[in-house]
Amino acid sequence: MSLTLAVASGKGGTGKTTLAVHLAAWYARSGPTLLADLDVDAPDAGGYFPAARPVAPDQPVEIAVPEQDQARCTACGACASLCRFGALVYIKGMVTINPVTCKGCGRCVRACPAGALVESPVRAGRVSLALLPNLALYQGLLTVGDIRSTAVIEAVKQRAVDPAAALTIRDCPPGATCPTVRAVHGASACLLVAEPTAFSLHDLENALRLVQALGIPVGLVINKAGAGQADPRRLAARYAVPVVAKLAWSHSLAEAGARGQLCLEDPAMRRCLGDIELWLDGFKPKDAP
Ligand code: SF4
Ligand code: SF4
Repeated sequence: MSLTLAVASGKGGTGKTTLAVHLAAWYARSGPTLLADLDVDAPDAGGYFPAARPVAPDQPVEIAVPEQDQARCTACGACASLCRFGALVYIKGMVTINPVTCKGCGRCVRACPAGALVESPVRAGRVSLALLPNLALYQGLLTVGDIRSTAVIEAVKQRAVDPAAALTIRDCPPGATCPTVRAVHGASACLLVAEPTAFSLHDLENALRLVQALGIPVGLVINKAGAGQADPRRLAARYAVPVVAKLAWSHSLAEAGARGQLCLEDPAMRRCLGDIELWLDGFKPKDAP
């Protein structure tokens, strides 16, 4: 049985992607592993794997956006007030649909009794795939100016599937809003990465609530442990969440991170990854190797 691990954080810049890419490289040493970069506004996991071979072409992510066919429209008004995203405006028989904010849910199309709302594809982003031995890296990239990140996230999730892979790691968008919900949803477990700062703790609490509301087992990784004034362990205890691993700040790790280099041989990183592996082993079926 393959596991899916969501790596998320309450706010950006906590070291979430750094952890996700190191975990992917760590597990790829022992078997097929998938890494899905779902941080589609600014995907950067690929920067850690410059030798990965792109598998062309990228797959487009398209959304079916309706347009009014005036010849068919009977001005019945059934589509008025239907759109939950405020993308459809109906005024005196005229239907205007904003192609930027329409989510392509099809609700208005299904409600139209005259077949007067006709869908056509609009590109919201794309999904790329690059390969290394034992590692498949899927990346979603939102089209510049587009706001439909959840559609791109869903497309990456659907494509990043391989029954032969023992582990799929999702690098999720930071925060606690719709894109994070979509990215974490359906995972076997979730790791939240936080720093020991008041700002990080505030956002961590939102993320903890979100993941627990989704019913997904969650653990905490404290990055830059000991370098800040706040203590994420108390918050973790309040939510009965285990502190799975800690990674102390070090100059060499920070420098390597800035260069997009992996540090699998760094002793502190190895300890951190080993602790996470032990925690993840608890989610495997008892008879799994
Ligand atoms: S397809 Fe959905 S999101 Fe788009 S205009 Fe119709 S109801 Fe709104
Ligand atoms: S539901 Fe269809 S027929 Fe009725 S106003 Fe809207 S587009 Fe026109």
